[in-house]
Amino acid sequence: ELSFENISHRFGESVILQDISLTAATGTVTCLLGPSGSGKTTLLRIAAGMERQTSGRVLQDGREIGGPSLFMPPEKRGIGLVFQDYALFPHLTICQNVCFGLAHLKRADRIPQAMQTLARVGLDDRADEYPSTLSGGEQQRVALARAMAPRPGVLLMDEPFSGLDSRLRDSVRDETLGVLRETRATSLIVTHDPAEALKMGDRIALMNRGIMEQFGTPEDLYYRPKTLFAAGFFSELN
Ligand code: ATP
Repeated sequence: ELSFENISHRFGESVILQDISLTAATGTVTCLLGPSGSGKTTLLRIAAGMERQTSGRVLQDGREIGGPSLFMPPEKRGIGLVFQDYALFPHLTICQNVCFGLAHLKRADRIPQAMQTLARVGLDDRADEYPSTLSGGEQQRVALARAMAPRPGVLLMDEPFSGLDSRLRDSVRDETLGVLRETRATSLIVTHDPAEALKMGDRIALMNRGIMEQFGTPEDLYYRPKTLFAAGFFSELN
């Protein structure tokens, strides 16, 4: 379980997040949905420990991991990350990239677990190649495998499918959902695409200009929008 309690954030004079509270329940997918600049990435960075919020607390399974009394750095949080600017290591093979987060396993178990995760994103046959020989979309799939291979309790993903063409996006999205369900991971997925949020989210947190417009199930947001903004955001879908 990952909870945000009254998170507010300012960069200088500008208010980026205003009093955001939400709980991502264990084993569920929560989509952070909203237009560009609404503060989705900032909230994810705060959860990861890459940004320290101005006020409020982040809790993992009821324990404070980021707040006034305790601030854990990213590597101590046991959270898997898929960020757009979080590139693969160019000097390591695909398999070695995925093994990177598996140092806690016995040596003999690392490669099988890496290969199994690579198979799920359809890239086990490319395991010995280097990232530069892969397309952008393939690199994105490796980044997903690298984040999921250690089976972290919490996975944070920023537009993880944006680099994929539409045909591939559906299959990688389904595989990702499969792994998330199997591992009972708690995930937060940033997207600006309402259709993607409706498809993936057990819950959707709709953001607008640093404010949480609505938090609920896909059905709540689609059929029972609480604000004009929420109604408008889904109205372009058919
Ligand atoms: P996008 O979909 O375009 O990535 P987003 O919803 O993820 O948007 P954020 O990246 O969280 O939005 O940005 C929210 C606001 O915070 C934007 O107005 C952005 O310009 C501002 N911002 C983000 N990072 C910084 C920073 N380091 N310093 C100052 N302002 C920032």
